[in-house]
Amino acid sequence: MSTLFTDIGELWVFDSEAGTSVLRDAALVVDDARVAWYGAAADAPEADDRVGLEGRAVLPGWVDSHSHLVFDGDRSAEFEARMAGQSYAAGGIAVTTDATRAASDARLRELVAARVREAQRGGTTTLETKTGYGLTVDDEARSARIAAELVDEVSYLGAHLVPAGWDADDYVDLVVGDMLEAVRPHVSWIDVFCEEGAFDPEQSRRVLEAGRAAGLGLRVHGNQLGESGGVQLAVEMGAASVDHVNFLADADIEALAASPTVATILPACDLSTRMPFAPARRLLDAGANVAIASNCNPGTSYTSSMNFCVGTAVLQQHLTLEEALRAATLGGAFALRRTDVGTLRVGARADLHVLDAPAAIHLAYRPGMPLTHQVWRAGARIA
Ligand SMILES: [Zn+2]
Repeated sequence: MSTLFTDIGELWVFDSEAGTSVLRDAALVVDDARVAWYGAAADAPEADDRVGLEGRAVLPGWVDSHSHLVFDGDRSAEFEARMAGQSYAAGGIAVTTDATRAASDARLRELVAARVREAQRGGTTTLETKTGYGLTVDDEARSARIAAELVDEVSYLGAHLVPAGWDADDYVDLVVGDMLEAVRPHVSWIDVFCEEGAFDPEQSRRVLEAGRAAGLGLRVHGNQLGESGGVQLAVEMGAASVDHVNFLADADIEALAASPTVATILPACDLSTRMPFAPARRLLDAGANVAIASNCNPGTSYTSSMNFCVGTAVLQQHLTLEEALRAATLGGAFALRRTDVGTLRVGARADLHVLDAPAAIHLAYRPGMPLTHQVWRAGARIA
C-alpha cells in the first residue's frame, strides 16, 4: 500500500549525509511505512492512495530525546512559588517520588499514555523517556517496564537524586547493583544527574561505567546549575549526549566540538526555571552537535511541545530556523543514535509532521499557535 502526499508548500528533508534540502510545490510517497520517493509535485509517481495537503509545510516528526514522563503528583504550587521568587533546588523531585511510588500500575500507565498522546498531538513521533521518580529497586523497575510499553527509547535514571536518608555513595552502590539488574531488561540507556546537590563527577562515573558494562548507552544531565564537570565526563566516556549545558567553559565547548557527544539544549526548561539559556549559538559556531528536546517533567519543564521549544530556540537563542528544525529532528535522532527517524530521506521511517502553515518559520513567527495539523508515524496517521 503506497500513499502520495502532494501539494506540499514546503518540504524539509534532513539528511545526515546530503544535508538539508527545502523543496517547494513538493510531493512525497510513502510505501510500506517508509519514505519511497520525494521531489517536485509535477514529477510525482502514481500511488494507491493520495493525500492533498493544500500548500502546507511538512517536516519530519520531532525526535524528543529527553523527557521524564513516568510520574504522578502535582507540582504546580511549587512552580507558582518559584515564579514568585523562590529559586529552584534539585530536592523538589522528592515530592514527585512520593506520589509516583503511591500510584497503582494502572494509574501510572494511563498517565504515561496520556502524556505520550499529548506529545504526538504536538508533532513528536519519536520519544525518549526516563525512570527516576521511583528510586527504589522495585519502583525503578516498574517505571522502566511501563515506559518500555509506551515509549520508543527508555533511559534508566536511578541516579536522579540521592533519596532522603541515604548516604550518596551507599545509594550509588544500589544504583549500580541490584537496581541496575532489575531495570536492565526494559532499558537501553543509562543517565545520571551530574550536578551539585545530586551526584559528583566520580559518583557519576561509577554509574556510567556500570551502565556501559551492562551494555547500555550513556547519557548525562550536566552543567545545568554550574560547571559541574558533566560535559567533560560525558565526552571522555563517549556518552551519546549531555543535556542542559547551560554553564559551559571554553574547554567544554571545545570538547563537545571535537566529539560525537550531542549537546542537548532544553529551551522550555531554561524558560521555566528562569536560568540563562544554554549557549546554543556558541556551540553551533564551534561545530558541536546540538539537539533540542522538551525535558518534559513536572518540576522544571512541564511541556512536551517541541513546536514551542523550536520557536523559543529561534526567538531567544538565535538559532536560524534551519538549525532549530534540524536540532529537533536529526539532532535528536543522533542523540539517540538512531538513523531511521528525524529525516525524510528515502528509506527513512515515514514520520510526517504537517503544519497548518505554508512555511515552517511560522513556528517562531506565530509562537503558541496550534500549528500541528496532522501527524503520521511509520505511514499511519496518529494525530
Ligand atoms: Zn531531565
